[in-house]
Amino acid sequence: MVLSHRFAFAAPALALSLALASPLALALAPRLAPPPALAPSLALDHSGAAAGELDSGFVARILAHAGSLAAAGPRSAASGGEAAAHDYVAGQLRAMGLNVEEERLDFEAFAIEEVDLRLAGRSVTPVVLGLDPYNGPLDFDAQALLLAGGADPPPDLGGRCIVTNHPMVQFMVMDRGAALVACVPPEDFDVFAQGATHDLRLRVRGAIRSHESYNLVTVVEPLLDDRPDGFESARKEILVTAHLDAYQASPGANDNGTGLGAFLEIARWCLRHRAQLTVPVRFVAFGAEEVGAIGSHAYLARHEGKLGECLFVLNLDTLGGQEGPRVAVTASIEDTLASSSDGALAAAPSSVVDRTPPELRGRAWEALDGSWRILHPEVLQLITARTYPQWLQQFVASAATTLKMEVSHGDLISDHQSFAQAGVPAISIQSRKHSIHSPGDTMEKLDAGTLRKCSALAVEILRAIAFDERRDAPEGPHTATTR
Ligand SMILES: [Zn+2]
Repeated sequence: MVLSHRFAFAAPALALSLALASPLALALAPRLAPPPALAPSLALDHSGAAAGELDSGFVARILAHAGSLAAAGPRSAASGGEAAAHDYVAGQLRAMGLNVEEERLDFEAFAIEEVDLRLAGRSVTPVVLGLDPYNGPLDFDAQALLLAGGADPPPDLGGRCIVTNHPMVQFMVMDRGAALVACVPPEDFDVFAQGATHDLRLRVRGAIRSHESYNLVTVVEPLLDDRPDGFESARKEILVTAHLDAYQASPGANDNGTGLGAFLEIARWCLRHRAQLTVPVRFVAFGAEEVGAIGSHAYLARHEGKLGECLFVLNLDTLGGQEGPRVAVTASIEDTLASSSDGALAAAPSSVVDRTPPELRGRAWEALDGSWRILHPEVLQLITARTYPQWLQQFVASAATTLKMEVSHGDLISDHQSFAQAGVPAISIQSRKHSIHSPGDTMEKLDAGTLRKCSALAVEILRAIAFDERRDAPEGPHTATTR
């Protein structure tokens, strides 16, 4: 999310698989051109070890990690369960001989203590509220505008209070200036819609509370001593990332037990291949993703000066659904970000700029209990930004070809989005068709076949980029330009 994929495109209980069915997603999907075929000059040498040779225990170990994490109970942002997941992942990395740094992040979250919603005088319990509890009003008296799911919202909603029966509507109107979106149960929506008046009255009482979470950071360095001079590119690095927390009471076997498991096993794989690495691979496990990608935004803020040296971010989130793999790179509603970043790898990113409005920094964009989600006109641009330059599209296409794998592209959101909106090339490997963000996100639901494909794709992309030994050559990826 995000802002998590859930935050952006689905109700808490809705699975990622619904995301593409959403009007916003459908509107965005066609705008993302399929990756172009690999240009001959960029053709990769696959004579070396390909991901197909992942050892037979690779997926079994990922499943074992996911099982350990899920068995430990829920691990929502800033909870004791998240801390336990943090300890587990840190412990696994240290057992591999890696140094692990813990970066504390403090954030604030508004917590609703009392809510009183009356629609035409009738008391209704909202499913979720869209509002800005940090900067906006908490009391509303208005004539509501009714917007059923699937309806076409008017272009300008300046200050309007919307009542809807579908949580996705918030994202449809987010950039149109609405002051409030109250999603209510369908039966209450119908009663209200059929009534003579559309008076809305809402009183929200609550408090801003402080929370703490942690990011985990470790790095696998290449064995540069064994290399000839001129490995200039070693100052660049790749980030492999996954989020530690799970959604509310979900055991999070898939979201994100599978991503964390793959994260750990890819770290082990990189250690085993240090002699072939040409760039450092930094592994960052983020806290508090599910309430607004807080960990990745905190990482961005702390390391902004260094991220100009980041080749790209490979995020791992929810790899064990029934269908996949899927490469998530949200299409940009405004193509400005995309057009400024499509081009030579060497030029992206020249500067890393977090476009998050200052008043929203360090603050949850969703309630820890899911009762509200941020409604701010600038957030939609952040969660739909894309930094997916052509060289990266080519590597993804090439990896899919090497693995003889169908790879779809989508517009789902996770921690990679924090980097994409700031100008760092970023993708997330994901799967679809699963039961995430619910108590049903359990081990029995995992599809080991999809998990294998997703993790093999991640490894192959990483191998193709991190093992490339011609990166200083004129036609190497560092100097390749958009064609
Ligand atoms: Zn996730």
